[in-house]
Amino acid sequence: MKKILILAIIASLATFGCKVLRNINLIPESQDKELGQQLNLEIQNNPKEYPLLQKKGNEAAYAYVEKLVKNILNSGQIKHKDDYPWDVSIIDNDTILNAFASPGGYVYVYTGLIKFLDSEDQLIGVLGHEIAHADLRHSTSQMSQRYGTQLSADILLGKNAAMVKEIVSGLAGLSYSRNHESQADEYAVRYTCGTEYNAKGVAGFFEKMKGRPSPPQFLSTHPNPENRVKAINKLADSLKCGGRVTNEAAYALFKKKF
Ligand SMILES: [Zn+2]
Repeated sequence: MKKILILAIIASLATFGCKVLRNINLIPESQDKELGQQLNLEIQNNPKEYPLLQKKGNEAAYAYVEKLVKNILNSGQIKHKDDYPWDVSIIDNDTILNAFASPGGYVYVYTGLIKFLDSEDQLIGVLGHEIAHADLRHSTSQMSQRYGTQLSADILLGKNAAMVKEIVSGLAGLSYSRNHESQADEYAVRYTCGTEYNAKGVAGFFEKMKGRPSPPQFLSTHPNPENRVKAINKLADSLKCGGRVTNEAAYALFKKKF
């Protein structure tokens, strides 16, 4: 069965050529979850680089973030709502302004980013952006482009474990293309628009980043913050997003938990 799949992929490449190769994801959809699980294990086993805030003893903090994630999942816009785990981890590092998601729906957010933001709609915006990368399969699409058919074939066959491990390790630091970033912003607005939250909160992080000297990795290959703020606000207006919830006061209390 796997062999037939590989032959089909190779045949489709021969037919479509390079131009289309840039836009297709060679990794089968079912592999995203597996790669995500592997990456999640690596992260759990590497507390030096990823000091995870334990769920036990921090139930209230986790419940708070999970409530926001649930809002996004219930927006009616998530393709993999029921087949990805959508597991959230908080990484206890106040110096990093970042969040990321693995393929297959594991979401990680640094305490540094949580403390940097001012309201629930801003955090829901960042979570929505990361959820979009996972739901739209941006990581594996990026991997397809970088490593090509050989990797896809190896993954399908469960071969080349060392290479797969290296790639899994690289997933956490993977930078997305400009296109993927704009698309993740767009979907974050679409998701938030389907909740009671202020969809323009998606721009909150970028508004706060304006004028800061060195952008974090999260932003490094991205469109510039000013353009992103404009695009986000324009889309929220054109979709006539009516949500108004920001919950600054509750968010201030939440930040005190760290
Ligand atoms: Zn992104």
